[in-house]
Amino acid sequence: MNGDAGTAQSHEFQAEVAELLNLMVHSVYSETDIFLRELISNGSDACDKVRYEAIAKPELLAGNDKLAICIAPDAAAKTLTISDSGIGMDRQELIDNLGTVARSGTKAFLKGVKDAKEGLGLIGQFGVGFYAAFMVADRIEVTSRRAGSPDAWVWSSSGGAGFDVAPASQEQAARVPRGTEIVLHLKEEAARYLQPFELERIVRTYSDHILFPIELVDEKGEARQVNAASALWQRSKSDVKPEDYTQAYRSIAMAFDEPALTLHYKVEGRQSYAVLLFVPTTPPFDLADPGRKGRVKLYVRRVYITDDADLLPAYLRFVRGVVDSEDLPLNLSREMLQNNPQVAQIRSGLASRVIGEFESLAARDSDSYAKIWSAFGPVVKEGLYEDHERRGQLLALARFATTAGEGTRSLKDYVASLKPNQTEVYYLVGEGADRLKSNPKLEAARARGVEVLLLTDPIDAFWTTLPQEFDGKPFKSLSQGDVDFGLVPLLDKAEADTGLKTTAEDEAAIVKAVKEALGEKVSEVRASPRLTESASCLVANAQGRDRELERLLTRQNRGSGANPILELNMSHALVRALGTAQNAGRPEEVADLASLLLDQAHILDGEMPADPASFARRVNALVLRGLRADD
Ligand code: ADP
Repeated sequence: MNGDAGTAQSHEFQAEVAELLNLMVHSVYSETDIFLRELISNGSDACDKVRYEAIAKPELLAGNDKLAICIAPDAAAKTLTISDSGIGMDRQELIDNLGTVARSGTKAFLKGVKDAKEGLGLIGQFGVGFYAAFMVADRIEVTSRRAGSPDAWVWSSSGGAGFDVAPASQEQAARVPRGTEIVLHLKEEAARYLQPFELERIVRTYSDHILFPIELVDEKGEARQVNAASALWQRSKSDVKPEDYTQAYRSIAMAFDEPALTLHYKVEGRQSYAVLLFVPTTPPFDLADPGRKGRVKLYVRRVYITDDADLLPAYLRFVRGVVDSEDLPLNLSREMLQNNPQVAQIRSGLASRVIGEFESLAARDSDSYAKIWSAFGPVVKEGLYEDHERRGQLLALARFATTAGEGTRSLKDYVASLKPNQTEVYYLVGEGADRLKSNPKLEAARARGVEVLLLTDPIDAFWTTLPQEFDGKPFKSLSQGDVDFGLVPLLDKAEADTGLKTTAEDEAAIVKAVKEALGEKVSEVRASPRLTESASCLVANAQGRDRELERLLTRQNRGSGANPILELNMSHALVRALGTAQNAGRPEEVADLASLLLDQAHILDGEMPADPASFARRVNALVLRGLRADD
């Protein structure tokens, strides 16, 4: 013990915690009930941990092998005490765990709370856990004894900037032989949490499935178990009501919504395990964060082992639930989790099962499936990049916005409406389906009635870099390389033929003049097979990166610096005017028009012209020239 033993030491909260607490203390959030769910969940985790550590060190449970959570209101003192006989915390753990937030998503959470209307509704999703107790308490004392330790410590705080940690008094230490006791001094407006029936209701709503007994002490001081404490996933499907599933989902996923999809099954044979998985309805705010691990909890014979076993691939990280194995050893180490063939088999079985469930839902109820896809599709599409084995299946599950109309379409729909002689699946990657729809690169496809997939998720720029094909039709970007609609007939031949004719020599001269005027700003200038109405567009080299990917990477300073190809619509009046200026020996006009064609193409791709001021100057000069010519 150090020289300060016996006296309280003050500590400051980490800045993020102070900010969180400020939110909690001043919250007008009505769903304060969740504080209890968070504290019970922490108590349950602590019981899980000590049971797990006791596999190797049984002495940790010596003298008291009961693992439980107890809730005791004291109406006279206006306190609510939640205690557990779990792993407990030593002094340093109290300081670290209840003074900082380790979670990587905290910043995103804090930002989300400020931006979002639903505000603190995110608390439930994020599980800011312990700190949620400051919504209902203006002072909290946590007495904790790490399993096996002779010392107990008391952490206390009234929110604000910091907390104190002191050795527990004899009386406090005696109350906590192992684990943690949390005393909440309830705020005036939180007095309802002193009523046993209210507490029981909350436990039943949010924590019924917790595997350890949750005991409630009533007015007479008698303790009574108030949760079912049974493993729902072990029950047979016919014994489980839909509302039981919803409740289990909410408690496992710390969510408020309904599960969009529930998978409950048992595998028996070479390996036996029970599975209960849920797909949420609402995507969590940090869904895009690839660091967010899947939260499928691994149990072995009802003993919680970890939720860090990566039981599902990252692209299914929104799925929540439990896998309970009958065969795995209880003392699974990290390495074993990674290398154990049984775990690998479970992993592959789970992914196939989830994907199979999506397939059958898509076939059975396409509207419900479309909702799941719109919530989680952007994440599932990561699998097109990562999961080579299942790519074909995932492509078939994908739904896309297309030029064929509102709503989304599958690739099966797409290939069913191929135009005569069409051999490729065309797509365009960019931001916002509406903006993409007006992109000139679609013009030639539109003139032929060829459908184009409009890919607007950031991930789309990546998976499309791999060669993809569906039903033998390779994918082809409309903003990269050559496009040859070849033998696909035009919808309206007459309309296309009204375009002005240019000779091959004219074209060569125009291309040369524009390239000279623009220099290194473009890697090449050429006549466009893509355009029918607009004057120009920018495309990427066939060997390089597609335009959108280059744009994304440039934003992260990882761009290749490769310049795009400028394509010109040779029958456009502006391009022809450039040809005329060139023939008439007016190089300044040629230079102005060439720059204008380039700037326009950038704008149509949603980019700024390289030099907006001279762009505006050039437009003005040309307009004025036009006005004067009209005089
Ligand atoms: P989370 O539970 O999401 O990690 P919390 O803020 O609720 O976040 O808790 C932070 C940490 O404090 C937990 O990860 C755990 O290590 C520790 N902790 C909280 N409550 C308890 C408890 N009752 N027993 C043991 N450790 C606890």
